[in-house]
Amino acid sequence: MRIAIGGFQHETNTFAPSKADYAAFAQSDSWPALQSGPALLTAFTGMNVPVAGFIAAATKAGHTLKPLVWCSATPSAHVTEDAFERIAAMTLDALEGSAPIDAVYLDLHGAMVTEHLDDGEGELLARVRAAIGTDIPLVASLDLHANVTPQMVAEADALIGYRTYPHVDMAETGARAAAHLDSIFAGLPRQAKAMRKLDYLIPLTSQCTLIEPAQHLYAHLAKIEGQMRGNGRVSSASFTTGFPPVDIADCGPTVIAYADTQAAADDAADALAAEVAAAEPRFREKLWSAREAVAYAIANADGGHGPIVLADTQDNPGAGGNGDTIGILAELIAQGAPRAALGVLYDPESAGAAAQAGEGAQVRLALGAKTGGAPDEKPIDAEFEVVRITDGEFLATGPFYGGSRMSLGVTARLRIGGVEVVVASRKAQCADREMLRHTGLEPANLAILVVKSSVHFRADFGPLAREVLVVESPGPNIADLSKLPYKRLRKGIRVMPMGAGFGG
Ligand SMILES: [Zn+2]
Repeated sequence: MRIAIGGFQHETNTFAPSKADYAAFAQSDSWPALQSGPALLTAFTGMNVPVAGFIAAATKAGHTLKPLVWCSATPSAHVTEDAFERIAAMTLDALEGSAPIDAVYLDLHGAMVTEHLDDGEGELLARVRAAIGTDIPLVASLDLHANVTPQMVAEADALIGYRTYPHVDMAETGARAAAHLDSIFAGLPRQAKAMRKLDYLIPLTSQCTLIEPAQHLYAHLAKIEGQMRGNGRVSSASFTTGFPPVDIADCGPTVIAYADTQAAADDAADALAAEVAAAEPRFREKLWSAREAVAYAIANADGGHGPIVLADTQDNPGAGGNGDTIGILAELIAQGAPRAALGVLYDPESAGAAAQAGEGAQVRLALGAKTGGAPDEKPIDAEFEVVRITDGEFLATGPFYGGSRMSLGVTARLRIGGVEVVVASRKAQCADREMLRHTGLEPANLAILVVKSSVHFRADFGPLAREVLVVESPGPNIADLSKLPYKRLRKGIRVMPMGAGFGG
């Protein structure tokens, strides 16, 4: 079969300060730059990206792939109208040029908001559908953070969502989309669709699929696929937990099911939605203040093996933070925490000054709080011992960053009392043990570890952690969604699990 493939990925935070323009999609970040033509088919080989999994599976099945356009940009505020229209036009032009085709696959995120559209993916899918007509299958993969809309479901034959956060199954999801297309080619009857929107938002930190309740919800979801419900078989089921900082009516978790009969699709979607609804109290995670989290961790410091891990989620550089707020660090020092460490604080000036002073020296620093991420904070003005200086170059070994060469610039490991800080010259989410270990700091030996990360740290630090506390310390990635100035959500939706209804 001849399959046209493309992708257009953006996770839009409508509360973020800067927009994604065409240049943001054209350039590379942690993913490749915009790809088109034959290069698209080889640019992703071996990567954990949906289109890579799709290409590998479809090629193995013997299909001919016709490249459209694939691009992505780092999460930010709205995609500009110019960027969306240019990329959509490039996609449609390439689609026209690839005729005749038997199917289309798109690698989408599902939470794209543009300057002129609340539902970027719904519009793109509608334009592709208008171009190919109703008989050619159109299948897309979606991020677990998709805010799925009725238009997206209406225009696509199937939407296939990730099932992990940290997202370790992106390539696998692309392969599942290829397998779904293969079953259509093999004669799967046109599938009935059912979609259910849940009526509460789920904060990012409690969406993690390594912990409950998401863990059991996804385990059950996988079992529903292939089941007979009444006289219809369920071909595909997805649960997207949603991306909450998005002020649109369709923001929030969604369940989607596809089956041979409408009754079977409805039954599967209702069953899944009921489970997600029942899990609402368990998605409500305690948010600790820095003071109480540090006091608790100190009181329990000698209670077992491995550190108590404090997630400094609001200053997560993977979600808009600068990685330099000092709320939790100041508490560790003030309360005299033993065997404690923080990773990774972004402060090139202090790292440079420590390097200049040299290992073993005592150096007076104004540490952190320099970039304005928390306007009320001031740097920590104190004397630190320089324990170790590195060039910040090392190989990540954990499951999230696994295999990437990290480059943090001049990095200093500093000590004050029982508290150590790894200070880097570049921003990075602390989600790999080597980010500490390359300075000689062994996380397994700590009593208390603070990470500037929301969820991805759990992939590598989770197995070490005795307990994880999510801490609400200064930073722009607001954890308590009831503090966001939403205006356009659906009336009645609860912005926090078990919280008050919006607009009522
Ligand atoms: Zn995601």
